[in-house]
Amino acid sequence: MKRSVRVDLHIHTNASDGKNSVIDYVLKAREIGLDVIAITDHNTFKGVRSYIKNYGEKYHNVLVVPGIEVRTNIGDVVVLCSKIHEDNDVPKDIDLLIDWCQMNNYIVILAHPLDITRSGVSFKNLMKYVDRVDFIEGFNAGSSIIINNLIMMYMCKKHSLRCIAVSDAHSIKSLGIAYTVINDVDEYYVENVSKFIDYLNSKNINVSMSISYKAFIPKIIRKLLNL
Ligand SMILES: [Zn+2]
Repeated sequence: MKRSVRVDLHIHTNASDGKNSVIDYVLKAREIGLDVIAITDHNTFKGVRSYIKNYGEKYHNVLVVPGIEVRTNIGDVVVLCSKIHEDNDVPKDIDLLIDWCQMNNYIVILAHPLDITRSGVSFKNLMKYVDRVDFIEGFNAGSSIIINNLIMMYMCKKHSLRCIAVSDAHSIKSLGIAYTVINDVDEYYVENVSKFIDYLNSKNINVSMSISYKAFIPKIIRKLLNL
Protein backbone atom coordinates (compact mmCIF):
# COMPACT_ATOMS: atom_id res chain seq x y z
CA MET A 1 0.00 0.00 0.00
CA LYS A 2 1.28 3.47 -0.87
CA ARG A 3 1.14 6.41 1.52
CA SER A 4 2.76 9.73 2.44
CA VAL A 5 5.77 9.45 4.70
CA ARG A 6 6.78 12.31 7.01
CA VAL A 7 10.52 12.68 7.50
CA ASP A 8 12.82 15.03 9.40
CA LEU A 9 16.33 14.43 8.07
CA HIS A 10 18.55 16.81 10.08
CA ILE A 11 18.69 16.39 13.88
CA HIS A 12 21.34 16.85 16.59
CA THR A 13 21.54 14.90 19.82
CA ASN A 14 23.55 15.20 23.02
CA ALA A 15 26.31 13.27 21.24
CA SER A 16 27.20 16.65 19.66
CA ASP A 17 25.60 19.99 20.53
CA GLY A 18 21.98 18.89 20.99
CA LYS A 19 20.15 18.55 24.30
CA ASN A 20 18.32 15.25 23.97
CA SER A 21 19.17 11.63 23.29
CA VAL A 22 18.07 9.66 20.22
CA ILE A 23 15.41 7.78 22.21
CA ASP A 24 13.92 11.15 23.33
CA TYR A 25 13.59 12.12 19.66
CA VAL A 26 12.07 8.77 18.72
CA LEU A 27 9.38 9.09 21.40
CA LYS A 28 8.66 12.67 20.33
CA ALA A 29 8.56 11.62 16.65
CA ARG A 30 5.97 8.98 17.48
CA GLU A 31 3.92 11.57 19.36
CA ILE A 32 3.87 14.08 16.50
CA GLY A 33 3.53 11.54 13.70
CA LEU A 34 6.93 11.52 12.01
CA ASP A 35 7.73 8.23 10.29
CA VAL A 36 11.45 8.70 9.72
CA ILE A 37 14.11 10.75 11.51
CA ALA A 38 17.79 11.07 10.59
CA ILE A 39 20.32 11.64 13.35
CA THR A 40 22.99 13.92 11.92
CA ASP A 41 25.35 14.97 14.69
CA HIS A 42 28.36 17.15 13.92
CA ASN A 43 31.19 14.94 12.66
CA THR A 44 30.14 11.91 14.73
CA PHE A 45 27.98 8.78 14.60
CA LYS A 46 28.42 8.25 18.34
CA GLY A 47 24.79 8.88 19.44
CA VAL A 48 23.08 6.98 16.66
CA ARG A 49 25.57 4.10 16.94
CA SER A 50 24.69 3.33 20.55
CA TYR A 51 20.97 3.90 19.91
CA ILE A 52 20.80 1.38 17.04
CA LYS A 53 22.82 -1.10 19.07
CA ASN A 54 20.20 -0.95 21.84
CA TYR A 55 16.94 -0.40 19.99
CA GLY A 56 17.54 -1.36 16.34
CA GLU A 57 16.69 0.76 13.28
CA LYS A 58 12.92 0.83 13.80
CA TYR A 59 11.35 1.26 17.21
CA HIS A 60 7.84 2.45 18.06
CA ASN A 61 7.30 2.53 14.28
CA VAL A 62 9.87 5.31 13.82
CA LEU A 63 12.72 4.54 11.44
CA VAL A 64 16.06 6.03 12.55
CA VAL A 65 18.55 6.76 9.75
CA PRO A 66 22.22 7.11 10.70
CA GLY A 67 23.69 10.30 9.36
CA ILE A 68 26.36 12.87 9.98
CA GLU A 69 26.76 16.61 9.40
CA VAL A 70 30.22 17.08 7.95
CA ARG A 71 32.11 20.38 8.08
CA THR A 72 33.65 20.17 4.59
CA ASN A 73 36.04 22.58 2.89
CA ILE A 74 33.04 24.38 1.29
CA GLY A 75 30.67 24.28 4.28
CA ASP A 76 28.25 21.97 6.08
CA VAL A 77 26.94 18.90 4.29
CA VAL A 78 24.57 16.27 5.67
CA VAL A 79 25.16 12.65 4.68
CA LEU A 80 22.62 9.86 5.21
CA CYS A 81 24.06 6.36 5.38
CA SER A 82 22.74 2.82 5.38
CA LYS A 83 25.44 1.69 7.77
CA ILE A 84 27.45 3.29 10.54
CA HIS A 85 31.12 4.13 9.94
CA GLU A 86 34.03 5.18 12.09
CA ASP A 87 33.85 8.98 12.34
CA ASN A 88 37.28 9.36 10.74
CA ASP A 89 36.27 7.36 7.65
CA VAL A 90 34.13 10.23 6.39
CA PRO A 91 36.06 12.53 3.98
CA LYS A 92 36.06 16.27 4.75
CA ASP A 93 36.90 17.36 1.22
CA ILE A 94 33.64 17.88 -0.68
CA ASP A 95 34.76 16.14 -3.89
CA LEU A 96 36.09 13.14 -1.98
CA LEU A 97 32.95 13.10 0.17
CA ILE A 98 30.62 13.05 -2.84
CA ASP A 99 32.70 10.26 -4.44
CA TRP A 100 32.59 8.28 -1.17
CA CYS A 101 28.82 8.70 -0.95
CA GLN A 102 28.28 7.68 -4.57
CA MET A 103 30.44 4.61 -4.05
CA ASN A 104 28.32 3.62 -1.03
CA ASN A 105 24.98 4.78 -2.48
CA TYR A 106 24.56 7.32 0.32
CA ILE A 107 22.56 10.55 0.24
CA VAL A 108 24.26 13.96 0.13
CA ILE A 109 22.37 17.08 1.23
CA LEU A 110 23.66 20.66 1.23
CA ALA A 111 22.83 21.93 4.73
CA HIS A 112 21.43 25.45 5.25
CA PRO A 113 22.94 26.87 2.02
CA LEU A 114 23.80 30.59 2.00
CA ASP A 115 23.70 30.79 5.82
CA ILE A 116 27.18 32.21 6.31
CA THR A 117 26.65 32.47 10.08
CA ARG A 118 26.47 28.64 10.24
CA SER A 119 28.91 27.50 7.55
CA GLY A 120 26.30 27.05 4.83
CA VAL A 121 27.75 26.74 1.33
CA SER A 122 28.08 29.93 -0.68
CA PHE A 123 25.91 30.77 -3.70
CA LYS A 124 28.85 29.98 -5.98
CA ASN A 125 29.34 26.52 -4.45
CA LEU A 126 25.61 25.87 -4.37
CA MET A 127 25.54 26.39 -8.14
CA LYS A 128 28.72 24.37 -8.62
CA TYR A 129 27.54 21.31 -6.67
CA VAL A 130 23.77 21.40 -7.12
CA ASP A 131 23.82 18.66 -9.76
CA ARG A 132 26.19 16.43 -7.83
CA VAL A 133 24.21 16.25 -4.58
CA ASP A 134 20.89 14.50 -3.91
CA PHE A 135 18.99 17.22 -2.08
CA ILE A 136 19.24 20.84 -1.01
CA GLU A 137 17.81 22.12 2.24
CA GLY A 138 15.23 24.52 0.86
CA PHE A 139 14.14 25.31 4.39
CA ASN A 140 16.17 24.87 7.58
CA ALA A 141 14.30 25.86 10.76
CA GLY A 142 17.57 26.37 12.64
CA SER A 143 18.57 29.33 10.45
CA SER A 144 18.72 32.57 12.36
CA ILE A 145 18.47 34.68 9.22
CA ILE A 146 15.03 34.09 7.75
CA ILE A 147 15.94 35.72 4.43
CA ASN A 148 18.20 32.73 3.60
CA ASN A 149 15.23 30.41 3.77
CA LEU A 150 13.11 32.73 1.64
CA ILE A 151 15.84 32.94 -1.01
CA MET A 152 16.30 29.18 -0.96
CA MET A 153 12.56 28.55 -1.30
CA TYR A 154 12.49 30.92 -4.28
CA MET A 155 15.50 29.19 -5.86
CA CYS A 156 14.00 25.74 -5.34
CA LYS A 157 10.94 26.81 -7.26
CA LYS A 158 12.77 28.72 -9.98
CA HIS A 159 15.34 26.02 -10.72
CA SER A 160 13.14 23.00 -9.80
CA LEU A 161 15.72 21.85 -7.27
CA ARG A 162 15.12 18.73 -5.19
CA CYS A 163 14.48 20.56 -1.95
CA ILE A 164 13.62 19.31 1.50
CA ALA A 165 12.59 21.05 4.72
CA VAL A 166 14.32 20.10 7.97
CA SER A 167 14.07 21.15 11.60
CA ASP A 168 17.84 20.97 12.31
CA ALA A 169 16.53 20.32 15.83
CA HIS A 170 18.90 20.63 18.77
CA SER A 171 16.16 19.63 21.23
CA ILE A 172 12.89 17.69 20.99
CA LYS A 173 10.99 20.99 21.16
CA SER A 174 12.08 21.83 17.62
CA LEU A 175 11.60 18.39 16.15
CA GLY A 176 9.33 18.47 13.10
CA ILE A 177 8.67 22.21 13.07
CA ALA A 178 9.81 21.86 9.48
CA TYR A 179 9.82 18.47 7.78
CA THR A 180 9.49 16.82 4.42
CA VAL A 181 6.61 14.76 3.07
CA ILE A 182 7.51 12.01 0.63
CA ASN A 183 4.41 11.14 -1.35
CA ASP A 184 3.28 7.76 -2.72
CA VAL A 185 5.78 5.61 -0.89
CA ASP A 186 5.29 1.88 -0.78
CA GLU A 187 5.35 0.63 2.84
CA TYR A 188 8.21 -1.70 1.81
CA TYR A 189 10.62 1.27 1.62
CA VAL A 190 10.15 2.29 5.24
CA GLU A 191 10.77 -1.17 6.65
CA ASN A 192 14.48 -0.57 7.15
CA VAL A 193 17.23 1.98 6.55
CA SER A 194 18.81 0.47 3.46
CA LYS A 195 15.43 0.23 1.67
CA PHE A 196 14.68 3.84 2.64
CA ILE A 197 18.06 5.06 1.36
CA ASP A 198 17.43 3.15 -1.88
CA TYR A 199 14.12 4.95 -2.22
CA LEU A 200 15.74 8.37 -1.65
CA ASN A 201 18.15 7.46 -4.45
CA SER A 202 15.35 6.79 -6.91
CA LYS A 203 14.77 9.44 -9.54
CA ASN A 204 10.98 9.64 -9.42
CA ILE A 205 10.74 10.55 -5.74
CA ASN A 206 8.03 13.12 -5.03
CA VAL A 207 8.74 15.40 -2.06
CA SER A 208 7.09 18.47 -0.59
CA MET A 209 8.05 20.74 2.29
CA SER A 210 5.89 21.18 5.38
CA ILE A 211 6.71 24.20 7.52
CA SER A 212 5.03 25.34 10.72
CA TYR A 213 4.65 29.03 11.57
CA LYS A 214 7.12 28.47 14.44
CA ALA A 215 9.88 27.73 11.96
CA PHE A 216 9.61 31.29 10.59
CA ILE A 217 10.38 32.73 14.02
CA PRO A 218 14.16 33.09 14.48
CA LYS A 219 15.57 30.45 16.83
CA ILE A 220 16.74 32.99 19.41
CA ILE A 221 13.22 34.47 19.70
CA ARG A 222 11.67 30.99 19.89
CA LYS A 223 13.96 30.33 22.84
CA LEU A 224 12.93 33.60 24.54
CA LEU A 225 9.23 32.87 24.01
CA ASN A 226 9.76 29.24 25.05
CA LEU A 227 8.14 28.01 21.81
ZN1 LIG B 1 22.81 20.95 11.86
